[in-house]
Amino acid sequence: MDGYAGKVLRVNLTTRECTEEPLNPKYARDYLGGTGLGVRMIYDEVPPATDPLSPENKIVFAVGPVTATNYTSGARYQIVFKSPLTGILCDASSGGYWGADLKRAGYDALIVEGAADDPVYLWVHNGKTEIRPATHLWGQDALKVQESIQREIGDERIRVACIGPAGERKVLLSCIINDEGRAPGRGGNGAILGSKNLKAIAVRGNGNFPIHDLTAYNALCKRIAKDNATSPAVAAMREYGTAQVLDNLWAMGDIPIKNWQLGLWEEGCKNLGGKKMKETILVPHTACYRCTLGCSRWVKIEEGPYKMDGPGPEYETLAAMGTMCLIDDLNAVSFANDLCNRYGIDTISTGVAIAFGMEAYEKGLIKKEDTGGIELKWGDAQAMIAMTHQIGKNEKLGTILGQGVKRAAEKLGGDAWKFAVHVKGMESPMHDPRTFYSMGLTYAVGPRGACHLHGHSPLWENVQDPLPEWDLKGMYPLHVSKGKGIVVKLSQDLTAVVNSMVSCYFLTFILKPSDLAALLTAATGTKYTAKGLLKVGERIMALHRAYNNRCGITRKDDVLAPRQLEPTKEGGNAGKVPDMEVMLKEFYKVSGWTPSGKPSRKTLESLGLRDVAKDLYGPKRK
Ligand code: SF4
Repeated sequence: MDGYAGKVLRVNLTTRECTEEPLNPKYARDYLGGTGLGVRMIYDEVPPATDPLSPENKIVFAVGPVTATNYTSGARYQIVFKSPLTGILCDASSGGYWGADLKRAGYDALIVEGAADDPVYLWVHNGKTEIRPATHLWGQDALKVQESIQREIGDERIRVACIGPAGERKVLLSCIINDEGRAPGRGGNGAILGSKNLKAIAVRGNGNFPIHDLTAYNALCKRIAKDNATSPAVAAMREYGTAQVLDNLWAMGDIPIKNWQLGLWEEGCKNLGGKKMKETILVPHTACYRCTLGCSRWVKIEEGPYKMDGPGPEYETLAAMGTMCLIDDLNAVSFANDLCNRYGIDTISTGVAIAFGMEAYEKGLIKKEDTGGIELKWGDAQAMIAMTHQIGKNEKLGTILGQGVKRAAEKLGGDAWKFAVHVKGMESPMHDPRTFYSMGLTYAVGPRGACHLHGHSPLWENVQDPLPEWDLKGMYPLHVSKGKGIVVKLSQDLTAVVNSMVSCYFLTFILKPSDLAALLTAATGTKYTAKGLLKVGERIMALHRAYNNRCGITRKDDVLAPRQLEPTKEGGNAGKVPDMEVMLKEFYKVSGWTPSGKPSRKTLESLGLRDVAKDLYGPKRK
């Protein structure tokens, strides 16, 4: 199959069987790969009532047609699983090199199922798979274990995706870490590997796969790389990384401060921003596989309590562990980021949980004896770092915060639910819905809970004709709810395509759907069009929602946290809140969902999902 390795690897850890299956060509055509393929596989194989931490849950690692090619950001892989944090279907994305090596080892997807009796790791190399003992690696941090496996196998080019101590302890904020601190961070996927006694998956591949029209494909890749090199939006990302958001958007009120209580903190944002990082601790380092954009950061702190040399924090981490906790010490946040990498915990959820803990401490819901003697006060970097350790080790207050803010609020009681900022149990990312109203809707209807990677709709607010190829024309002004339903719907559809082909989202700064269609056509030989890709995106989103519906999700769950709907008193979003009802109603209508929040039978059938329509609505009456 052109554009694909053509095979799926299935590893059953209970029976210790490793089998190869041909990639289903219909699934490749209809879902592309990555997230789409993974969502379809989990829909087919994991019943919605499955306990996420049982051997019956499965986790799919999937790449796509542009992975490991000359495309400038074909580095990423997606994972799909039923989340132990939210209880619904979750996908997550990571960069680095691991995904490219999986494909070059011969696979478009890896399905892990069952559970091993004792710790193991997988070694996948050029069509061969071994299940190896990992008892000696259990307990190692997620950066160290990568080196240990490379040394054990004797090849430093091996790429490793692994869990740290938090995943081993099934902390619900835990995640997989690959390639020196890259992470598909969200949804507690580290706990799934922990529940399967799977410490790591090492991959190495140098095989090839066919590209349908190599000349056309390489010409497109060359043009994209050139556009990438000259785009101003990309240039800023290259120079300052995602941390530039702090420098550029603080005045608009996009940065959450003090657990979403404040709308303005100029000094704090600038102290954590990309410019400050560049002036102080940034050192040169490589980007993801063949990426010419290079947003990733590497930092070196020469001395002091936060001495470190490792991957630098992204914007989301700087806000979650910084401004959310009223901390503007860049070195401290960088150090905390490194700790999260080592424990294998999601920096967004961890930061949100610590900020929640600080507010609960202030309100007397958490006492000093709960924290092991730590004064959990706003702005205290040492306290934030102590809590990161407690979450990573699953000890003291970490046993509560590490289960996520929804469960923590239930445990603490009182008014804690009012300031536990999550959607469907997933801690909210770091863009303020009171600044970008569409982001509020994106969080509320996000397929994995509050999420900034299923449609980055703020890019389309206040922009003339955001996406004409998908008929999104006109202007969608800031601080206006009306009209945002279609913005969010199309933004989600586009991201579903991007996460399935699998490209880095940042390339959509310069690429249109017709560019993506041309790439996919040249790679696979299947004739994709811009409008045809819209259908692919809609299909993936509808299938994901249908699975979540079968897990019990309805309209009642499509709500923001109360705190995100309290107006701030200062900054660019002072006094502003989105009208969620207006936006939700529009979104349901343009998505073809019923008033209760299910894709309608007609919608599902129009997307070729008759089997799913039957699951949701029963057999069709004649
Ligand atoms: S833009 Fe950043 S995240 Fe995306 S592929 Fe390049 S380095 Fe990786």
